Amino acid sequence: MPNKGYPASYYAATANSASARSELQDNKQVDVCVIGAGYTGLSTALFLLEKGYSVVVLEAAKVGFGASGRNGGQIVNSYSRDLDSIERTASAAAAKLIGEMAFEGGRIIRERVARYGIQCDLKDGGVFAAFNQKQMRHLETQKALWERYGYPHLELLDDQGIRQVVACDRYIGGMLDKHGGHIHPLNLALGEAAAVESLGGAIHEHSPAIRIERGETPLVHTPMGTVRAKFVVVAGNAYLGNLVPELAAKSMPCGTQVIATEPLTEELAHSLLPQDYCVEDCNYLLDYYRIGADKRLIYGGGVVYGARDPADIESIIRPKMLKTFPQLEKVKIDYAWTGNFLLTLSRLPQVGRLGSNIYYSQGCSGHGVTYTHVAGKVLAEAISGQAERFDAFASLPHYPFPGGQRFQVPLSALGAMYYNLRDRLGF
Ligand SMILES: Cc1cc2nc3c(=O)[nH]c(=O)nc-3n(C[C@H](O)[C@H](O)[C@H](O)COP(=O)(O)OP(=O)(O)OC[C@H]3O[C@@H](n4cnc5c(N)ncnc54)[C@H](O)[C@@H]3O)c2cc1C
Repeated sequence: MPNKGYPASYYAATANSASARSELQDNKQVDVCVIGAGYTGLSTALFLLEKGYSVVVLEAAKVGFGASGRNGGQIVNSYSRDLDSIERTASAAAAKLIGEMAFEGGRIIRERVARYGIQCDLKDGGVFAAFNQKQMRHLETQKALWERYGYPHLELLDDQGIRQVVACDRYIGGMLDKHGGHIHPLNLALGEAAAVESLGGAIHEHSPAIRIERGETPLVHTPMGTVRAKFVVVAGNAYLGNLVPELAAKSMPCGTQVIATEPLTEELAHSLLPQDYCVEDCNYLLDYYRIGADKRLIYGGGVVYGARDPADIESIIRPKMLKTFPQLEKVKIDYAWTGNFLLTLSRLPQVGRLGSNIYYSQGCSGHGVTYTHVAGKVLAEAISGQAERFDAFASLPHYPFPGGQRFQVPLSALGAMYYNLRDRLGF
C-alpha cells in the first residue's frame, strides 16, 4: 500500500501506488548524497541526474513524508516575502537574479509533469483574495512589481470579478495569477521520485541521516549504512532536527493545518469555485483552499509556532472554512492533518554551503512549492560549477529569532497576533 507509513491525510489516502523503497543497509559511494525526499531533495536529485551525476537520496521516513506530501497544493509564484523586500535586502545584481527566478518554479513543475508523465491533477489558475482596500492596493503594487520582472499573467479582479471565481462575499476584490495553479502534492513528489529512479538515482526510505562526517569527501551515516559522496545536499527542512546545528539556530519549524471535506456534489463544488482555481487570502495568517480531483474542498490555514501538533485540527480549521463558505455547514469533514514548514526571520529561503561540499536550501517560510523546484535547479548548477544564481540566494542575510531557543516561539506568536489583529481591523 503506497499510503503505509504516511500520517493519515487525504493525500495519503489517494496516493498513486509506489513500490516500497529499501532501507540503506550497505556502504555506497556516489557523486552526491541528498538528505530528504521532499521537493527540494527530489528536484535537486533530478537536475543532477539529468546532468549525469550519480545520486543517492536518503529519506528518514517516506518520499513526500514532510511538507511536500501534505501541503495545500497551491502553485504560488514568487517567494514568501515578495521581490520588493528582496530588492531592499540584497545587492542589485542578486535581487535581479532572484527576481528572474521568481516565476521559474511553476514552469519547472509543469515541465516535469509533462516530461515524466506525472499524474498529479495539475490545474492552472490561482487567486489572491483581498478583504480590504489596503490589501487591494498591495495587490496592485504586486502586479506592477511582477510585471517589472517580465511576468504578464496577472489580472486584477474587482468585487464583481472576485465573485465570479469564488462564492464568498467577504472579499472586496483580488488578483488572478493565470500561471498559478494546483496539484495533488504527494503525487507530484511520488512522480518525481519515480523520475529520479528512472534516471538511475537510488532512494532509500526509512534511512535517516544521523551524522555527517565532514571532510574532503563527506561520509553520511544512517543507522545501518553509509554514503560517501563528493557533495552532500541537506534538504530536510522543518524535519531536519539538529543534524546540522548551524542551520537550526536561524530557523523555526511551524505547523499549519489542512482539512478535506467529504466529496461535494458537482454542482456544489462548481458553485464554490466555478473556474476551479485555488485561492489564498491576503492576510498575514492566511487561509488557502481549492477543490481536489474528487470534488472535496481542501482548506488550510493558521500557523502553530514551534510546530506542536494541535489536538483537534477540525475544530481549528472548520470554523475558518465556514466563515468563508457558510453554505458548507452540513458538510462532513473526512480528513484533517498537520504539517510543518520552516520559518526564517526574514521569511526568505536559507541557502548556502558549509565548507566546500555540503549544500543546503531550506526555510522558504510557507510558500515553497515553486521555490523548492527552483532550489533544486540552483543547487545542481552550483554543484556542477555554475554558482551565480546559488550565490544570489546565499547572499541573503539571516538572523536568529529574538528570544533564543526559550522565547522565540512565544515572541513569534505574539508578533503574528499583532499582524493578525491589523488584518482583522483592516490597517
Ligand atoms: C500544511 C502545509 C501546507 C502548505 N501549503 C503550501 C501551498 O499550498 N503552497 C506552497 O507553495 N507551499 C505550501 N507549503 C510549504 C511547502 O509545502 C514547503 O515549502 C515544501 O514542501 C518544502 O519542501 P522541502 O523538500 O524543502 O521539505 P519537506 O517536504 O518537508 O521534505 C523534507 C524531507 O526530509 C526528510 N528528512 C528530514 N531530516 C532527515 C534526515 N536527517 N535524514 C533523511 N531525511 C530527512 C523528511 O522526512 C522529509 O521527507 C505548505 C506547507 C505545509 C506544512
